[in-house]
Amino acid sequence: MITLQEKKTSQHDVKLFRQEQPMNIPNEVNIAGISIRVEFATDLPEGCIGKADYQNQKIIINKDFAGRHLTEQTFYHELVHWILFVMGEDELKGNERFVDLFSHFIYQAVGKQDTVQATGKCLSCATKAA
Ligand SMILES: [Zn+2]
Repeated sequence: MITLQEKKTSQHDVKLFRQEQPMNIPNEVNIAGISIRVEFATDLPEGCIGKADYQNQKIIINKDFAGRHLTEQTFYHELVHWILFVMGEDELKGNERFVDLFSHFIYQAVGKQDTVQATGKCLSCATKAA
């Protein structure tokens, strides 16, 4: 475990500290009976932090792109895309402003729980955070 003191010593240690923080992102979600795997990748297109992969029933997140909160919020952004896809709401699904704003509200209401840092547990699904 990296201590706060080590965090301040160099840029490299800051990055290591970030990787030690548990993400409050589930491994899988169920949307109307459809299991959606959540995977992490670093080979998304440049500037892309997340992707709703409808063909392969996945949400793909680049967890090295940004800090913990933006990465977690990205999960909710892609989740909203998925929900709208399943609902057949294609126009709303393509409305990035709506999707992003709605996901910020969901993240603030249920996703942003800093106690996950202390417990290592995802309070939403009661499983160990990935
Ligand atoms: Zn989007």
